[in-house]
Amino acid sequence: MTKKEVAAVLEEIAVLLELVGENPFKVRSYTNAARAIEQLEEDLDTVVEEKRLREVKGVGDALEKKIEELVATGKLKYHQDLRDKFPETLFELFRIPGLGAKRVKTLYEDLNVRSLGELEYACTENRLTKLHGLGDKIQNKILDGIAFARKHQGLFLFPTASQEAESLRGGLSSDKSVIRIEVAGSIRRRKEVVKDIDIVASSNKPEALMKRLVRLTNVETVTAEGETKSSVVLKSGIAADLRVVTDEEFPYALHHFTGSKEHNVAMRQRARTRGLKMNEYGLFRDEKNVPCRDEAAIFKALDLPYIPPELREDMGELDARELPTLVEQKDLRGIIHCHTNFSDGSATLAEMARGAQKRGYHYLGIADHSQSAGYAHGMKPEDVLRQHKEIDQLNKILDRFRILKGVESDIRSDGSLDYEEALLRKFDFIIASVHSKLDMTETQATRRVVKAVENPLTTILGHPTGRLLLSRQGYPLNFDTVFDACAANQVAIEINANTYRMDLDWRHIKPAKGKGLKFCIGPDAHNVEGMDDVQYGLGIARKGWLEAGDLLNCMTVEEFLAWRKTR
Ligand SMILES: [Zn+2]
Ligand SMILES: [Zn+2]
Repeated sequence: MTKKEVAAVLEEIAVLLELVGENPFKVRSYTNAARAIEQLEEDLDTVVEEKRLREVKGVGDALEKKIEELVATGKLKYHQDLRDKFPETLFELFRIPGLGAKRVKTLYEDLNVRSLGELEYACTENRLTKLHGLGDKIQNKILDGIAFARKHQGLFLFPTASQEAESLRGGLSSDKSVIRIEVAGSIRRRKEVVKDIDIVASSNKPEALMKRLVRLTNVETVTAEGETKSSVVLKSGIAADLRVVTDEEFPYALHHFTGSKEHNVAMRQRARTRGLKMNEYGLFRDEKNVPCRDEAAIFKALDLPYIPPELREDMGELDARELPTLVEQKDLRGIIHCHTNFSDGSATLAEMARGAQKRGYHYLGIADHSQSAGYAHGMKPEDVLRQHKEIDQLNKILDRFRILKGVESDIRSDGSLDYEEALLRKFDFIIASVHSKLDMTETQATRRVVKAVENPLTTILGHPTGRLLLSRQGYPLNFDTVFDACAANQVAIEINANTYRMDLDWRHIKPAKGKGLKFCIGPDAHNVEGMDDVQYGLGIARKGWLEAGDLLNCMTVEEFLAWRKTR
């Protein structure tokens, strides 16, 4: 081991000691020793061999043994034992500028932040602003640092990727040579995370379009430039492919590069059974192309209705007797699951109501955090009463708009809800969500969630798995059991549209719908703009085959309240 490597381990021990709360003197002894070793002029191995470590300033009995172990074996048990006290992902936090042991300790202990993703989430929910030694400014700095770290990872959340793709498409579509152009790939299918951007265009001057691409301002590097395909990496770190074909080839190319791979395999199989051959250039019968003006014509040639991109996941879309009429934004009447400054939101009730009204909704379901959610300034019973009074006053003056009194009640470890029953009864609806003690076995998690679902006051099961995309897996659930409980107790399942969550996952939505469940898109908005996340939840609902009739949000406010009472 080099001096530098030994020093780095000692340095890390100092950090770990600070994390476990050791006294400052002990911590300092390790930082001092690290510095002394790094600045040592002699060869470290020689000093160890000649047993002269104690001559180095700051190296006492205990440190001597540890450095000897390090030099001899390349590792140190003491160091490893300390590391094992913390989740491995906690160390990602040190990659963020401005985060030292003191702050990481606060984040870990006070907010239970254990990874970069959880930290990012905590920042977007304003949880650092009131912490000792942190605050507004540092929260913003941390967010910048995380964005930087993200840039160097391979996957991107849908909103980032789709915004980038749209700006690329916009930059290209103004080129005169473009006939048709579309964003394809997983973005078109509205996947919750995206690896890269695929754009398909038809043009009679492909070279001109390729030149235009490499000159766009958000392009950082060009990795390949060809006649039919070019690849670039954008400043945000996302890779993008542009494919240019003739206009006759466009529908086939668009279908092919939209995917998914599994859907394409099933389509080719279907073509084969009809004596056809299908690829990205066309649909052929005996080498002769079957002309298709658009994708709908391709599906028709295979005796299929038009399959919306969201459904192209080989989840039965080719065999369905009838495809659903997928829910659209215009079907949504109410926005449910919004926070205000009564808990960890930043806007007032009136501001949120105005925001919802401006976005064309007829009612707004407020759901601030309940009392156990200390990290999110959960509402004490007296806050609830104060909020209800304010809602009543606002409802008197609001024109053709209603605020519903809801709450996002913590599901406590034993599955119970957070307030006394008398208080719970005062709400128009209750979202029950797990926010704490996420380390559970499937049996524990399922029992806890089912207990909450069986509570006759629960209306909606909030973000059912607690996952955070790209950073935290959800707790394991027996979905069959949970869905059965929801069906038996008439509890709707949330599609949490916070872009880090997208929970329930679309892969589980279709089977849940099969059990007759209702769903509710919840933006989990913590400010007015947060309401716009509904669009992302809508994409997930569509991927889950949902129609307007499957969603509470598509009910009128009267229907919503009546539905709740029937349970
Ligand atoms: Zn929540
Ligand atoms: Zn929430």
